[in-house]
Amino acid sequence: MKSMNKIDLIKECESAGTIGISGHIRPDGDCVGACMGLYLYLKKVFPEKEITVYLEKPADIFNCIKDIDRIEQRYGCTDEGCFFIPPRDVFFAVDCSKDRLGRAESLFDAATKKINIDHHVTNADGTGDVNYVIPDASSASELVCNLIEEEYMDVDIAMALYIGMIHDTGVFQYSNTKPETLQTAAKLIGYGFNFPKLIDETFYEKTYVQNQILGRALLESILFLDGKCVVSVIDKKTMNFYGVGPKDLDGIVNQLRIIKGVECAIFLYETGTLEYKVSMRSCGKVDVSKISAAFGGGGHMRAAGCTLNGTSHDIINNLSEQIEKQLIDGVNA
Ligand code: AMP
Ligand code: MN
Ligand code: MN
Repeated sequence: MKSMNKIDLIKECESAGTIGISGHIRPDGDCVGACMGLYLYLKKVFPEKEITVYLEKPADIFNCIKDIDRIEQRYGCTDEGCFFIPPRDVFFAVDCSKDRLGRAESLFDAATKKINIDHHVTNADGTGDVNYVIPDASSASELVCNLIEEEYMDVDIAMALYIGMIHDTGVFQYSNTKPETLQTAAKLIGYGFNFPKLIDETFYEKTYVQNQILGRALLESILFLDGKCVVSVIDKKTMNFYGVGPKDLDGIVNQLRIIKGVECAIFLYETGTLEYKVSMRSCGKVDVSKISAAFGGGGHMRAAGCTLNGTSHDIINNLSEQIEKQLIDGVNA
């Protein structure tokens, strides 16, 4: 693993006329916050440049972020047809490696200069021409904050990045919260936004149906490996019954993880015929990034994910084999 120096965003973008920014498919709070924080910053430094965020539609809870409505969702091929975007001079992949950009991957590939800002241990080398990947960092939003020249920082940029940080740290609760994380967050709240409201409205608050499906997932969860592991599966039919989509399932796996005695939690939801999105969380004895990476996904030691094909039973069997191995032999075996 190379140690990576900070990159000079202003220098990297100075001669570009067009700049694109994107993050991973099914964008979470960190992905949205980091992309928008970076966008608002670059727009402030270079008001004359054409700067665009290409991202799947973020959840409505993020509507409080300035200029969120300027995100371009029409790129690549969608249900509405195919949209050609001329190659950008600079393109940023934020909070993921290039292969998780979805419809934006070809825009990244076509760009003259590709920059990758990420904090996933499974992308330690980066996938850009220029890389800033710090697996120890709490969030991509913290990394973007590190790269910002303070004279341009303002309340809108600070709020976007703060949202990203609270989402990836569980409001500074998870072990990825470092002293630097809190120092960065302290600096951000100094810009004077209503952070308790933001935490409530973007992190804790759930709609009625979100709570219902959470309850359903908990009710139907199954303990295995002597109570050290828990799994829950939500199929398409159940999602349709409650009228919910993937964005409504956030937080379920975290609730499963905090069951007393559980070392590893798995949550599956059906994304297609014999296809499931898998989320895994660990309390520290299991490195779930290794397991998800072995199945073509990625993530962090305590939070990782992948998409797998097969019946949910087969998927759980395959995952549990790996988890059991780690529980017996240790994380580094
Ligand atoms: P999730 O459970 O989907 O919220 O993901 C937990 C962590 O793993 C997040 O940091 C994700 O960005 C990462 N992750 C999830 N799915 C994948 C994947 N297919 N490839 C790489 N990283 C992933
Ligand atoms: Mn993310
Ligand atoms: Mn992240």
